[in-house]
Amino acid sequence: MSDLTYNVIVGLEIHVQLNTRTKMFCGCALSFGEEANSRVCPVCLGLPGALPVMNRQAVEHAMLAAMALNCRVAEFTKWDRKSYYYPDLPKNYQISQYDLPLGSNGAIEIPLEDGKTKNIRIRRVHLEEDAGKNLHTAGSFSQVDLNRAGTPLMEIVTEPDLNSPEQVRALAVELQRIVRYLGISEADMQKGHMRFEPNVNLVIDKAGQQFKTPIAEVKNLNSFRALERSVAYEIRRQLDDFLETGRTMQMGNKSTRGWNDVEEVTVLQREKEEAHDPDLVPVVATSQWLDKIRSRLCELPVQRQVRYVQAYGLSDYDAGVLTTDRSTADFFEQAVRAGGDPKRVCNLLTQVGLKLANDRGRDLPSLGLEPNAVAILAGMIDQGAIGASAGNTILQAMVETGKTPDVLAQERNLLQKSDAGELEGIVDQVLAENAAAVADVTAGGKKSQKARGFLLGQVMQKTKGQANPKVVTEILNRRLG
Ligand SMILES: [Zn+2]
Repeated sequence: MSDLTYNVIVGLEIHVQLNTRTKMFCGCALSFGEEANSRVCPVCLGLPGALPVMNRQAVEHAMLAAMALNCRVAEFTKWDRKSYYYPDLPKNYQISQYDLPLGSNGAIEIPLEDGKTKNIRIRRVHLEEDAGKNLHTAGSFSQVDLNRAGTPLMEIVTEPDLNSPEQVRALAVELQRIVRYLGISEADMQKGHMRFEPNVNLVIDKAGQQFKTPIAEVKNLNSFRALERSVAYEIRRQLDDFLETGRTMQMGNKSTRGWNDVEEVTVLQREKEEAHDPDLVPVVATSQWLDKIRSRLCELPVQRQVRYVQAYGLSDYDAGVLTTDRSTADFFEQAVRAGGDPKRVCNLLTQVGLKLANDRGRDLPSLGLEPNAVAILAGMIDQGAIGASAGNTILQAMVETGKTPDVLAQERNLLQKSDAGELEGIVDQVLAENAAAVADVTAGGKKSQKARGFLLGQVMQKTKGQANPKVVTEILNRRLG
């Protein structure tokens, strides 16, 4: 064992359901949870004579994604029929794109755990349509719901540049952020809007000789957790298989596996037979059309995250939290533009705002907070009018009552005493009452810091926590030297 090392090689295929109003080639509305087979028509049922008409919005969404992923966007693409005979596919073919995808040769950066980033190449971005759903709910037969048949799916395929389960997950999370930022998919995992298929194998170095294990493709994973765990499982399984059988990659011996979420293992699957039959109207993208789509590109989450660290001095972690979704990042920036100190605003939003939003199952902007009011609150903390923890209390009260921060600070008696004259009297009183602590301070040494803290605490107690600790510390320093 000691002379064996290995590298993990993973390429990822990601299916993203686009949030168009209608299906890919017909006018049926997209649905979730509607009555079975209530969103179907001759086109998506594949009845004879039905003519598919391309959904322009779906093409534009996919092109926008291709641009965001730094792909070359094709000026000419076409559709291909992927033929297979399967109960959830009444047409006996799925419309997809083979040799001329919408986007190719792209790349994105993913964040790594050590704070660095890694470049992952994107092989292609293409469009296809989803199949229906087989239901196994009753008896010894299956039923088919074709509401999903024809739903526009964007498929993103990476090069095999991912080298650990964590990197695979990071890429998936990053893609979710990107499609949400672009507004082209809700990317809601629970509704199956994103599905993952990792291709995993190992390059093993044993006693100076190199071996490649056969590639396994794990189908249809619909959570980040299942994705990460299935890749980790495949690594162990392939290593064990190699040690036991010495099996290595031969031409075309790629296998397809499914994920059992309960037992957390992958199991071998039979593949669908397919054949090609291209004869659909191609897509010709003029440069004007592409420019129009390109104008919809926005600053992407990773770029924003880096900007927050560089321009505002936020930690990489905080910047990541704020940029998780676009609406939170927009809100943060509005508050900063309204004059709020970025760090203060960040603390208010990450410590209180996002928690409240999360508890209520909403996003930050729909809590009813005004960015301007958050900026004012941040300013009150900066000026010492209130303490930082009072700021958090007030932000929560703003959400609950809709009142302004200054009114709430008054009402709830949270304004700090910063008047030096008044505070000096209290400090003197505390010094007179605590001669022992004062002696400790003047004696210097280890006890001195502790005694200072104690005296500050006494002043805070006397003022019921309303003294501005900064002002009190200044007075103490003046009095005690
Ligand atoms: Zn239809």
